[in-house]
Amino acid sequence: MIPKPKRRRHRPKNNAKPTINDVCERCGRPYAHLHEVFFGRGKRQLSIKYGLQKRLCYEHHEGASGPHLNREYDLQLKREAQAKFERVHGRAEFVRLFGRNYLE
Ligand SMILES: [Zn+2]
Ligand SMILES: [Zn+2]
Repeated sequence: MIPKPKRRRHRPKNNAKPTINDVCERCGRPYAHLHEVFFGRGKRQLSIKYGLQKRLCYEHHEGASGPHLNREYDLQLKREAQAKFERVHGRAEFVRLFGRNYLE
């Protein structure tokens, strides 16, 4: 048997450095980062796969009003993302993948 060549796992493309064209969806500031709406335990990869991401500047991402510190805003983004996902894949598929329904 010929051993398979070892392949490095590719990191997702969205780790690319933000540019001046990447503006915050809340305030329009450039060089905003991509936030994965669902994060933790495999969900981050699902967010990337299905494009459930939000471009946010440092303040609106990691700051007091950002989704990592502000639970209310975090849930708002999750509800928006679920609605977007459901338009294509349906609710059953959302709950199967993400393990929760945020819209009820
Ligand atoms: Zn911002
Ligand atoms: Zn984030």
